[in-house]
Amino acid sequence: MEHFKKEQTFVLIKPDGIQRSLVGEIIGRFERIGLKLIGLKMVLPDEKFVEQHYTLDPEWRRITGEKTIKSYRDKGKTPPSEDPFEITAAILERLKTYMTSSPVIAMVWQGAHAVKIVRKLVGGTEPLTSDVGTIRGDFVLDSYEMSDGDSRSVRNLIHASGSVEEAKKEISHWFAKDELIQYRLVQEQILYDVNLDGLLK
Ligand code: ADP
Ligand code: MG
Repeated sequence: MEHFKKEQTFVLIKPDGIQRSLVGEIIGRFERIGLKLIGLKMVLPDEKFVEQHYTLDPEWRRITGEKTIKSYRDKGKTPPSEDPFEITAAILERLKTYMTSSPVIAMVWQGAHAVKIVRKLVGGTEPLTSDVGTIRGDFVLDSYEMSDGDSRSVRNLIHASGSVEEAKKEISHWFAKDELIQYRLVQEQILYDVNLDGLLK
């Protein structure tokens, strides 16, 4: 049976992840859960490329604005605007500055439920409320309050696709087909095979 064991997701270590020397730590979390790395490169994206990345999903502007308004309300605070699109326009400008400030590392990880598993390991968008045990919860202490106060993007180390659809679009935005490598990983037998034949000699 195929399951979803070939599901792919796109992950980007953002400039702060590299500047904080967390590359090995971040990659290690995806490795140790059993996902397979099938593409990896260091890139210096320009602002246009970053804007294209975030607007591949036509709904991203609305969803991100609504999510930000909700997070203000949940904390009993007044959001900077009631219009989700106005909020996202400011977020996008700041994201362009953030994401072009230093190199980033683009990766494709493959395995069962790759999209959901990676989002679970990454944690919620705002580090202040990301769960303990997640990458954003364990390695960074930023908040919307701090980032808004300094008119900058919230620094949360990493990007990961939110859905299989988003992953497909992001993978083809960042990688050429021949940059992704299909190969056999020995541990896949213990992760996916029905019969564990041949382990004892
Ligand atoms: P995620 O990265 O968790 O999928 P989004 O897609 O909603 O989050 O937003 C993309 C990125 O934009 C976030 O990771 C973060 O760096 C930045 N961002 C989102 N919302 C805000 C906000 N309200 N204030 C500052 N930066 C934000
Ligand atoms: Mg997102």
